[in-house]
Amino acid sequence: MHCPFCRHPDSRVIDSRTADDGLSIRRRRQCPECGRRFTTTETASLTVIKRSGVVEPFSREKVMSGVRKACQGRPVTEADLAMLAQQVEESLRQSGIAQFDTNDIGVAILPHLRTLDEVAYLRFASVYQAFESLADFEAAIGDLRKTQVAASGPSSEVKE
Ligand SMILES: [Zn+2]
Repeated sequence: MHCPFCRHPDSRVIDSRTADDGLSIRRRRQCPECGRRFTTTETASLTVIKRSGVVEPFSREKVMSGVRKACQGRPVTEADLAMLAQQVEESLRQSGIAQFDTNDIGVAILPHLRTLDEVAYLRFASVYQAFESLADFEAAIGDLRKTQVAASGPSSEVKE
């Protein structure tokens, strides 16, 4: 690790502690050349196995570009997408697993996208859950309606 002050190519670890969430380690380092101290944060790298078998590092940007397509014409901002990508990364890290396939990423995106925008969620789910017919859409929409009724409480339920 280069010293950020004098660029000396080596540094000494003087203290290590696990962050509160247990998902990262902070190391206090000292440069043997200029004597200044700095902190580094170490997190496990998340990797994604693509359908082609290629392994690449997890990227929030890729999550955003995947979801952006489903959000076309919807009132979803770039800030919303960035927040969603962060939530997806956090939920992947909390799973305690370090390697995922592209389908796992899609599944991790769904609950967050559902909260963000229901139409975008349906578009995205239709791809990731491989909807094959109208019945699949109807089931997903029925599921969304059930959640809405549950969220708004039984008093607002409309009787036909
Ligand atoms: Zn230095």
